Order: sequence, then structure tokens, then C-alpha cells
Amino acid sequence: MQINTRSRAIREALARVRKRIPVQDWHAISSFLTRISGEREWRAVGAWGYVDTLWAGLFPVLGRCFEAVPGGQIIFFLPLLRLYSRKAIVGVVAHELGHALRASKMGPEWHEHMQRRWQRVEHEANALASRWGFRSHIRAMRNERRRTLNPYLSSPEKKFLGRIHRRDQEQVCHHRQVRLLQHAAERQTRAKGEPTNLHSCQ
Ligand SMILES: [Zn+2]
Repeated sequence: MQINTRSRAIREALARVRKRIPVQDWHAISSFLTRISGEREWRAVGAWGYVDTLWAGLFPVLGRCFEAVPGGQIIFFLPLLRLYSRKAIVGVVAHELGHALRASKMGPEWHEHMQRRWQRVEHEANALASRWGFRSHIRAMRNERRRTLNPYLSSPEKKFLGRIHRRDQEQVCHHRQVRLLQHAAERQTRAKGEPTNLHSCQ
């Protein structure tokens, strides 16, 4: 299992949770998970570009042709996760590892199975995390979701959409500038009658 995030909050929370997870549970979790990673960007979903309000999740691992390969991965979405206190982040990490432990015992159809029974699955993940000793952290996670995260997200979405739009525009501008420079260089090279070897940025 790889840990592909430099987020100190997540790494500290993982270390804390791991200490309290029974060895056989940790073995099942770390054998099932391919990686744990953190996404740093805000994300939009759907045709209307709504802000994705997910802060963490257990997802299938996709192969080169987007086929699901055995095992799973946990992704933490840092812009939202940062709204939680350190205590609640420990709760989120314990909750996601609880999902991973349950999924490790469900066989290859684990993702479909979890999606069909998502309410029960959520309850089970919290129960497992509580059994590992993180009851107060789960409570903090749930309280902060209700008191902080949800009101923040239901504040005008345009604030978030504006950020995503600006980011995307900056990327478009960057690509345009690169293409303009490239065309200028190509024109110059053609004028000299030399072949161009600039990398194409499409
Ligand atoms: Zn969950």
C-alpha cells in the first residue's frame, strides 16, 4: 500500500489510527488498499458544474483501459478536508479505513455492493472506527460536518465555482500563450528555411 500524500494532517491521523487498529484488521486493510492519496484541487461534477462536496472516499482502482483491478484506494479531497479540525480528520481517516476493512471481506463486487447499501455501509464504518477507539473522533466528524462543513458548502456555490472557473481559465490562457509562442517560433524558423522541432502543445 502506497501513501501518496504529503498532507501532514492526513499522515499524522493515519499514524494515530494505525496504532490502535488490531494487527489482523490492519493486515486486511493494507492488503486490500493499493494506495492512499490526497487531491489538492477543487473539483466540479455534472453537466452544470456543481462543486463536488466529497471530502474523502473509497474508490476502485482503475487499470490502463479504465477497467477495475482488484483492491481499492482511499482518496482525501484536501480543500474540503481542511475545513475539519485535527480531531475530526482522525475520525474521517478511521471511518475510511473502516470502509476498507469491510470492503476487503466483500469480494470483487465490493464497490457495487457498497453503493447499493450505502446507508448501512456508512453506519458500519462508524461502528468499526468506534470499536477501534475513535468514538469521540467520529462524533467530532459528524458534528463538524453539520455545524461547519454543510453550512460552508451551502453558502453561495458561486464562490467555489468562481475559483474553479478562474483556475480553468488560467490553464486555457497558459495553453494559448504556449501555442502563440510556438506559432511565432515556427514562422521564424520557416522564414529561415529550417525545420522546427518545438513540442506541440494541444
Ligand atoms: Zn463513508
